[in-house]
Amino acid sequence: MPDVSTEASLRRTFAIISHPDAGKTTLTEKLLLFGGAIQMAGSVKGRKAARHATSDWMALEKERGISVTSSVMQFPYEGRIVNLLDTPGHADFGEDTYRVLTAVDSALMVIDVAKGVEERTIKLMEVCRLRDTPIMTFINKLDREGRDPIDLLDEVESVLGIQCAPVTWPIGMGQRLKGVVHLVTGEVHLYEPGRNFTRQDSTIFASIDDPGLEARIGAQMLAELRDELELVQGASHPFDAPAYLAGRQTPVFFGSAVNNFGVQPLLDFFVRHAPPPQPRATTTRTVQPAEAGLTGFVFKIQANMDPQHRDRVAFMRVCSGRFVAGMKAFHVRTGKEQKLANALTFMASDREIAAEAWPGDVIGIHNHGTISIGDTFTEGEALSFTGIPNFAPELFRRARLRDPLKLKQLQKGLAQLSEEGATQFFRPLMSNDLILGAVGVLQFDVAAYRLKDEYGVDAGFEPVGVVTTRWVRCGDPRKLEEFREKNAQNLGIDAAGQLVYLAPTRVNLQLTAERWPDVELLATREHA
Ligand code: GDP
Repeated sequence: MPDVSTEASLRRTFAIISHPDAGKTTLTEKLLLFGGAIQMAGSVKGRKAARHATSDWMALEKERGISVTSSVMQFPYEGRIVNLLDTPGHADFGEDTYRVLTAVDSALMVIDVAKGVEERTIKLMEVCRLRDTPIMTFINKLDREGRDPIDLLDEVESVLGIQCAPVTWPIGMGQRLKGVVHLVTGEVHLYEPGRNFTRQDSTIFASIDDPGLEARIGAQMLAELRDELELVQGASHPFDAPAYLAGRQTPVFFGSAVNNFGVQPLLDFFVRHAPPPQPRATTTRTVQPAEAGLTGFVFKIQANMDPQHRDRVAFMRVCSGRFVAGMKAFHVRTGKEQKLANALTFMASDREIAAEAWPGDVIGIHNHGTISIGDTFTEGEALSFTGIPNFAPELFRRARLRDPLKLKQLQKGLAQLSEEGATQFFRPLMSNDLILGAVGVLQFDVAAYRLKDEYGVDAGFEPVGVVTTRWVRCGDPRKLEEFREKNAQNLGIDAAGQLVYLAPTRVNLQLTAERWPDVELLATREHA
């Protein structure tokens, strides 16, 4: 009989963070390959084709080659269950990415050896920092000429402010790439393009002193390697598990994802050292993963995954206890019991019906708009997980409808797409405008495309005089009413029915805040 504590200890739930093009998708596929989740041996499928078969569902993504949605991939490896939560790959930094990172226990950072630390990596790293998320680093594309590995480690340390502990070290680079040395086990893994798909299919020497190595790389390269290793070991930090788990040190691996090289040492180290599900804070107490009762929170909602059924899937991260198909759970925000029937798991590349799930796992719950991002489910206790914020969007557009008869569909479409959290939808109190807010400009294109594709509504977006929004909160109902009356022309309601201040200028916002000291104007809304 499986118990919660054992099952939880086997889980490794993580996300990959990187700048676009560093190789996140390629690495994801290789990891799935090791997990036996996808079959690519022999005829390696086209990367894009394989990508769509696994993590992408939407027509738009196929058309543009971007990953707009994120998904979950689960695979077994070395007796562990790995849950990889995909983060959206497009250039706009979205809240959806942020929230995926609230649902993981650790992260893997991919860096392009030629480019080093890039802008989006810095941003994502800041997010990980907020929760001290442990991070492993994979420096990719070693089959190409890139920067000096020591310089790269320096850059990670100085720009990202995290100590580096190289676990593998490259032997050569580009045309001269010969392999990597494992600084913890001492093993040498040779680089043999077209091979390396399994440990059996790789040449591994027990140490750099193995005579076979000299025969393969030559005496001169071996001598250089010895010198370099001495330098590296003198200048860098040895792996320190507590420092890694505290988010102060990142173990670093080198390799080439597309050649499947250096990936297995990474994965082996990952399942061994990455943290299992961690305790989580709630409004009332800290929840331990090994607790018997099921708890979890919704970090993502995706509409219309199956265009045949207008369904919305809420992705819930299990934080404690055991989920069993068909069980009833308490939906804390609404105070109602809800049957979790037909929940999905994300084993391999297919969505399947979940029989059970454990801490660290993610299940997909079908719903018709009753579940919101940030919602908590329990077996009856009224606690809510904290730390899953909604951000005030930074860009605003008014929806312009080409066919006025489709107004109802437009409202419905905008409201449902907003449930996913990438965009936010506002209705001013004093006009019939429908205003959409987003963090990145691409999201308006995505919204227009999906309105047409999924709701049959031809709409565009045009500029509107809103620069930022604030959620309005006030403990005194009379003050709030007064505020509402005096500021009606700048107030609106968001998709969740909350009162929002739609600021026409920053100066206006500042003056309003000064004039109404008893009213809180909040830039983020914690999902209560
Ligand atoms: P993502 O945007 O981070 O998901 O990056 P992709 O996985 O789509 O990779 C971006 C490009 O880099 C693609 O053309 C890949 O084929 C290529 N790429 C990925 N890994 C490697 C590698 O190890 N070596 C080389 N030379 N190219 C790679």
